[in-house]
Amino acid sequence: MWNEPSAALATALPGPERQPDPAVVVSVEPGSIGDELGFQPGDKLITVNGQRPRDLIDLQFLCSEEELVLEVDDPDGTRHTIELEKDADEGLGLGFSEALFDGLKQCNNHCPFCFIDQQPPGRRGSLYLKDDDYRLSFLYGSYLTLTNLTPADWHRIEAQRLTPLYVSVHATDAELRSRLLVNPRAGLLMEQLAWFDARDLQIHAQVVVCPGVNDGEALERTLGDLAGFAVGDWPAVLSAAVVPVGLTRFRPPGDALVPVDRAAAQAVIAGVESLQQRFQQSLGSRFAWLSDEWYLIAGRPLPPRDDYEDLPQQENGVGSIRAFLEALDQATADLPIRVNPPRRLSWVVGQLVGEALTPVVDRLNTVDGLELILQPLPSPYWGQEQVVTGLLTGSDLLQGLAGRDLGERLLLPAVMLKQGEPVFLDDLSVSELEQQLAVPVSVVGGAEELVAACLSNSGMYA
Ligand code: SF4
Repeated sequence: MWNEPSAALATALPGPERQPDPAVVVSVEPGSIGDELGFQPGDKLITVNGQRPRDLIDLQFLCSEEELVLEVDDPDGTRHTIELEKDADEGLGLGFSEALFDGLKQCNNHCPFCFIDQQPPGRRGSLYLKDDDYRLSFLYGSYLTLTNLTPADWHRIEAQRLTPLYVSVHATDAELRSRLLVNPRAGLLMEQLAWFDARDLQIHAQVVVCPGVNDGEALERTLGDLAGFAVGDWPAVLSAAVVPVGLTRFRPPGDALVPVDRAAAQAVIAGVESLQQRFQQSLGSRFAWLSDEWYLIAGRPLPPRDDYEDLPQQENGVGSIRAFLEALDQATADLPIRVNPPRRLSWVVGQLVGEALTPVVDRLNTVDGLELILQPLPSPYWGQEQVVTGLLTGSDLLQGLAGRDLGERLLLPAVMLKQGEPVFLDDLSVSELEQQLAVPVSVVGGAEELVAACLSNSGMYA
């Protein structure tokens, strides 16, 4: 999954921690304490009980007190001091512009497979931020490497019980992990896992597999070592995701990396599925899961939904197609016989997932009057023939859909867009796409929205 930090986020500089910026209010929940106190968007929260919060985590801790003294600046700069009493579990009902008020902690690694380094230059700045911030990992599930943590960070993780975190492992062998991340500090991982274990703190792990580097025996050892921390009532490692390396045409020459092909995918599937059986017996869980891409690249059917248990790594593309199909089953359980007026729509997806989604389209097309046209596309932008939906860019859509019969509307998966903004990974906007393809676009967020966009008359035909 593509995690893009906020564009307005400053970067945390090495050295002494800088004074956090004020927390800028962007929304006030109607009827909340914040609303009653007269908070408005643009207000700046400076301190809570005399302390400047460094991020949303601090803010939540500070606001869990029953008696609060807030220092707040109006948008015009006037400072107010507000005293209030509330229940400990009652929030203020305020939304803020950023999650981090003291800047983003970026990574200090140089992984040759880094996707951020494999982008063309000249795009929006936030695409080049190398998020390795444990606070965003705790808040939003982004992966971090643990290589940039200071003693104060470790102390804070323990003191505030920031668990679970999401850790990019790649290899447990110290020498191999240091080589993969090009950082000697990366070799400390096993000690760090023991640190989590000793404190009843937990992580989810991921392994990005580079064929010929950390697959085969290295992968077996990595997953076995991680499973060693998955025992007991409170396991330190909750799950492991195995994902294929993504390589683009912009990667630097001479990186010695090779893309995952069908044979490599089949070998990794065989190895991990065999380990899953072992883990099932010893841990009572499959514990390590392959992302959907492996099966699609190998030309193998996806495992059944139940194999993914409670989908601990769904956001990482592990079982996400099965989960989507399951949600579509529910959303299409009660299809109407016909829709009126009749309609022809297109649904654009990544080439890699097109075949897996065809049965869904066939089912929807049993509705009289509905014709949904699946438009699976490759990505010339990244130089990937087989691409997942979330990496398709605006230029891929322009190139792939130009001259095609798209019907009267294009359904666009929200996963292609920056969160909260109608802009693609190559900075093209949805409105530019609409103009150039001369077709209206509806952004669909999931199975229910997709089905509703196909069946509903409201909005689309108003
Ligand atoms: S940890 Fe590696 S892959 Fe992740 S941002 Fe840093 S260099 Fe890139």
